[in-house]
Amino acid sequence: MSTYIFGHTTPDSDSIIGAISLSYLKNQLGEDTTPSRQGEINPETAFILKRFGFEKPMLKTNYAGENVYLIDFMESSQSPSDIAEATILGIVDHHKLGDLKTDTPLEMWVRPVGCSNTIVKQMFDYFGVEIPKDLAGMMMSAILSDTVIFKSPTCTKEDTKAVKELALIAQIEDPKALGMEMFIIKSDVLTDTKRALVLRDFKDFNMGGEKIGVGQLEVVDLSVFDNMKEELFEAMSEIKAEENRHSVLLLLTDIMQEGSQLLVLSDENAKIENAFNITLKDREIWLPKVMSRKKQIIPFLEKQF
Ligand code: MG
Ligand code: MG
Ligand code: MG
Repeated sequence: MSTYIFGHTTPDSDSIIGAISLSYLKNQLGEDTTPSRQGEINPETAFILKRFGFEKPMLKTNYAGENVYLIDFMESSQSPSDIAEATILGIVDHHKLGDLKTDTPLEMWVRPVGCSNTIVKQMFDYFGVEIPKDLAGMMMSAILSDTVIFKSPTCTKEDTKAVKELALIAQIEDPKALGMEMFIIKSDVLTDTKRALVLRDFKDFNMGGEKIGVGQLEVVDLSVFDNMKEELFEAMSEIKAEENRHSVLLLLTDIMQEGSQLLVLSDENAKIENAFNITLKDREIWLPKVMSRKKQIIPFLEKQF
């Protein structure tokens, strides 16, 4: 029976590429594993897979009775609904400690770095397994994505070191240029519906019994959202109502200006305002220097709930 390796719901490049890279490593180490995904891939991930000649992992949303490794998440709210009936053999992640429980001992590789693929790179080094050229290029791309080309406050020296070493293996001379190509693709927000945009990189959190959804769009120029705000709010409102969410937040991150426009729909605006010590104006506000949901948004929200 093959062990499935997958990332969070609404998978990003780190979740998809991490499933592929960790599965390759595990198979080299003699295990039988298969990368999978919980949902559709985003345009950036599609670009990276094509660039390095990989297929997207199989779509699989039920895992009852299966052995699994989780990568890039450890929250029940980002898990398959039947995760409690699966056996978690291990977790590779760079987020806060989640609420998942296991019945058996497990392998944990959890480190406060900018990307799960940085940890997978370190695992390759630890086990002395060589990384194939194209896989190295993909892992490098995942790190550039998660760290916003090293600009995110989540980026560490270990991430830049991993990119340097992976670029050498992949024979890519200018990783930052490839990173910009990726973010230009990410900045195409005109081909999707507003609902798809809000959900493109969306995560739910359970905070004190309330469901809080936080989406993020990272673009090279915020002006792409001009004349789009009302429709984005409409989509957020629909998504909020559907699953009885307490709040839906959307971060429109400008990677050049290095800050985010925060859009808020909440049952208790005061909690959101207190979290960031802000006063919303027309349900939104500019947050200078804020680029990371994991480090600059979630911890402050958690404290309010
Ligand atoms: Mg992720
Ligand atoms: Mg990640
Ligand atoms: Mg991200």
